[in-house]
Amino acid sequence: MNLGRWMGVVIALVVASIVLAYLSLKRWTHLTGSTMGTTYQIHFEHNGYVGLSGLERDIEVLLQSINQELSTWNKDSWISEFNNSAVGVEVAVPDHVWKVLQCSLVIAEASGGAFNPASLGLTELWGFGAQKIEVRDLPSLATIQETVRQSDIGNLSLNEANQSLKKLSSGLQMDTSALTKGYAVDQIAAILERSDLQNFSIEIGGEVRVSGKDPNDRAWEVRLQVPVGYPHSAPVVVLDQQSIATSGGGQNYIQIEDALYTHIIDPRTGYPITRDQSLFSVSVISPACMISDALATACFVLGVEGSEVLMREFPNCEVRFILHERTPSHLVRNR
Ligand code: ADP
Ligand code: MG
Repeated sequence: MNLGRWMGVVIALVVASIVLAYLSLKRWTHLTGSTMGTTYQIHFEHNGYVGLSGLERDIEVLLQSINQELSTWNKDSWISEFNNSAVGVEVAVPDHVWKVLQCSLVIAEASGGAFNPASLGLTELWGFGAQKIEVRDLPSLATIQETVRQSDIGNLSLNEANQSLKKLSSGLQMDTSALTKGYAVDQIAAILERSDLQNFSIEIGGEVRVSGKDPNDRAWEVRLQVPVGYPHSAPVVVLDQQSIATSGGGQNYIQIEDALYTHIIDPRTGYPITRDQSLFSVSVISPACMISDALATACFVLGVEGSEVLMREFPNCEVRFILHERTPSHLVRNR
């Protein structure tokens, strides 16, 4: 081989090793966007071998398909069509809905009905649904009781054999908003894990799941929100391959007469949880964000004592309560 050819080979090898070294360099990417009426943030560490545009596309397609199945705000979604279906008509259930429903039913049962994935009738009655009815006066007791009756989970009939559902009462309206964000977070985590990514955090509207280390090579931390004037610093939760989801009445509530009613409703009574109770928020830490999300909503309904009973059934989950400032600090409990 003459000198020119040797030089060519050497230059090609040098360029190839620079390209390889560059591709194997670790770097962090941040994806952000809107979904489910809120925003999402995804941070992950990768090397140049990961197909970023493919990952972004997979996440976008996933979020769209979850919305298309489960958004009660979209009139054409599967869930809206099911809610408009006639009593007794069997409707085939797509996979995302089926998985979310299975988890919902476990939490509904464990919480004695404090969690109910069929309580959209109540959400609409109190003006928190897509119909955006302005509620100025308390609904009548008879209307509340009838809506509770219609929303009984027993009116949702599942056929495991052919993955279908039917309503047994005309007023039954499914709504999985209390755990859909958590489910989507878990599904995004599965996409990242399929690409062999180990260090990441995913957040949709405050529901979070992390894996591995943060960009500073430390454990991931989440700072809990506290009420205005809270007399202590906001607690920080350290997460290790875990999820955290929070429920509270801090942002979404209405005022009727002197009381503030939150968007979280006790399906057993039909009344929203009021903001004047001592509980500001509940956060649940668990291996899966869907479970955290559903349990946090259930715990907000149940209050501190009731939550402690519920959480005994979920030994790999932890709950954190933030109580309003007027409550003595020793009641800000960790479990
Ligand atoms: P956010 O969606 O604000 O993060 P949650 O996860 O607690 O809060 O979900 C609240 C939503 O869940 C409500 O807007 C309503 O659609 C629905 N919901 C309200 N009360 C209940 C309940 N007791 N069980 C199940 N879903 C509920
Ligand atoms: Mg929730």
